[in-house]
Amino acid sequence: MDYCCKRAHAGAGLIFNRDDMVQICPRHFSPEQAALIEDLDARGTAVGVKRNPDAWHGMAWPYGPNVQVPMRLAMIEWAEKHKLSLVYRQKLSCACWPTSSRVSKCDCGPNGVKFAPDSATWDHVTRWKARRGGRAVVVLQPYRISDEGWETLTRWNDREDVAVEVRPDSWYGIGTLFVGIWNAEAAPAGAGRLERPAARVQ
Ligand SMILES: [Zn+2]
Ligand SMILES: [Zn+2]
Repeated sequence: MDYCCKRAHAGAGLIFNRDDMVQICPRHFSPEQAALIEDLDARGTAVGVKRNPDAWHGMAWPYGPNVQVPMRLAMIEWAEKHKLSLVYRQKLSCACWPTSSRVSKCDCGPNGVKFAPDSATWDHVTRWKARRGGRAVVVLQPYRISDEGWETLTRWNDREDVAVEVRPDSWYGIGTLFVGIWNAEAAPAGAGRLERPAARVQ
């Protein structure tokens, strides 16, 4: 990792290019980079990303897009395409999130234990609601889907009110998969036809 200056090295830098992985601080943005960030702030706001005066960049981006601009752009384009809005502060870590109204705990699993894919599959998690409606999708972007995780997704996909979507083109990138557990009412065409992706060479 390279840095434009000490300020970027201290964590106040963004990566604009995955090929060079240089972290650049706002003071050293090119005019084009500054304009891009301003544009993404506005578009991020429109897909539910909140202002956060405590963050040096002023916005509460999810992990990944907070530092990597290509991820930020890919996330925004995906959310715009599906008319989604980011949801914050939801503790419920369960495949039921898109079809439930619970916020912290649910009764899905045996003995009231959450019915979530294992932690390797339940990675880089974000929750999204329809811009004019209820919960739409919980997105996982894991490096791999474990056997246990796949079984959970398959069982969950069998439900009438759920459509699971697995794609190779995640917005997190870096070799991760996109796994969307959609509320069937909000699901895009093609979701629900599950096909396990081939294992990737890491
Ligand atoms: Zn700098
Ligand atoms: Zn649940």
